[in-house]
Amino acid sequence: MRSRSTRGWTRPVTRSPEPVTARILDGRATAAEIKRELIERVTALRSKGIVPGLGTLLVGDDPGSEIYVAAKHRDCAEVGIDSIPLTLPSTARQAEVETAIERLNRDSRVSAYIVQLPLPDGLDPVGALARIDPSKDADGLHPDNLGRLVLSLDSAQGLVPLPCTPAGILELLHRYQVPLRGREVCVIGAGVTVGRPLSLLLTRRGVDATVTLVHRGTPPEHARELARRADVVVAAAGAKHLVRPDWVRPGAAVVDVGITRETDPETGRSRQLGDVDPGVREVAGWVAPNPGGIGPMTRVMLLRNVVELAERAHPGWNA
Ligand code: NAD
Repeated sequence: MRSRSTRGWTRPVTRSPEPVTARILDGRATAAEIKRELIERVTALRSKGIVPGLGTLLVGDDPGSEIYVAAKHRDCAEVGIDSIPLTLPSTARQAEVETAIERLNRDSRVSAYIVQLPLPDGLDPVGALARIDPSKDADGLHPDNLGRLVLSLDSAQGLVPLPCTPAGILELLHRYQVPLRGREVCVIGAGVTVGRPLSLLLTRRGVDATVTLVHRGTPPEHARELARRADVVVAAAGAKHLVRPDWVRPGAAVVDVGITRETDPETGRSRQLGDVDPGVREVAGWVAPNPGGIGPMTRVMLLRNVVELAERAHPGWNA
C-alpha cells in the first residue's frame, strides 16, 4: 500500500484510520452506568412489593419491529423490569388494536407500555397512540405528554415521561459535562420523535440553550452556516453524512442521531450510517458516534421512564 506524509507522519493512502481528535460521547458506557442506577431503584421498588412492568403491543410481523420489541424486553430483564408482550396479527382491525390498548391501560402489571410503530397499512397510529393512558406512556409521545412539555418550560424537574431519544441526547451531554447554558445548539431535523421535542427540552429553564431548528425547508448552504456557528450540533435528519467537516466549528460537540440503513457492497450485510460524515471527528471537540451513541441512550431512557412511572403510580412508596 502506498503512503504519503502528513504533518510529519506517514500513513497509508487507502483504508487508513483518520487521526481522531474528538472525544467520544460514549452512549454504550453511559447507558450501562444508568442501567446500574436503575437496578438499584428497581430493587428498592421490589422490596416494597412493587414490580415495574413494560407492556408492548406489536401488530403484524415486520421483522425490524420484532427485533426492536425483543431487544426492549431483553433490556427490561437486565434491570429487573417485568415484560408483558401483546401481539396481534397483521390482519387486525383498528377496533382490535384499540381493545388491546384498553387492556394494557387496565392491566395492573403494566407500569408503562409502547405501541410499536409502524402499524400495518390501514391502521391509524395517531388514533391508537391517543388512546394510551398518558400515565403509562413509556415513549413520552402521547399528545398530553408532549403538550405538558410545551407548558412546563419553567420546571427543569419532575416532568415524566419524556420522549426517549431527546431525553437520551440531553442526558449524554449532561453526563459528559458538555456546556449548554447560553450556548448555541443547532438541531438538524424537526421530526416529532427527535428534533421538535429536543428543541423544547433544550430551551427549558435549567438547560437554557439557544436553539436553531434546521429542516428540509432550510437551504443547504444556510443550514451549513447555522451549524458552523453552533457550539453543539445535533444531526437528526436521517440524511446520510449530511454534516460534513466544513459544517462544524472546530471544538464543537456533534451528536449523530439520524439513521440510514444500506447494504455494504463488500460484505452484502446491512449496515447503519449516521447523519455525520466520519471526517467530522477531525474537527469536532466531542462526537456522539452512530452506532454507539444515541441508540443505547434511547433504549435506556425507555427503561428509566418505566421505573419513574412505576414510582409515580405508588406515591409514598418510599416513605
Ligand atoms: P422525521 O422523519 O420525523 O423527521 C426528519 C426531519 O429531518 C424533518 O424535519 C425533515 O425536514 C428533516 N430533514 C430531512 N432531510 C433533511 C436535510 N437534508 N436537511 C435538513 N433537514 C432534513 O424523523 P424523526 O422521527 O424525528 O427521526 C430523525 C432521525 O433520527 C431518523 O433518521 C431516525 O431513524 C433517527 N432516530 C434515531 C434514533 C437513535 O436511537 N439513534 C432514535 C430515534 C430516531
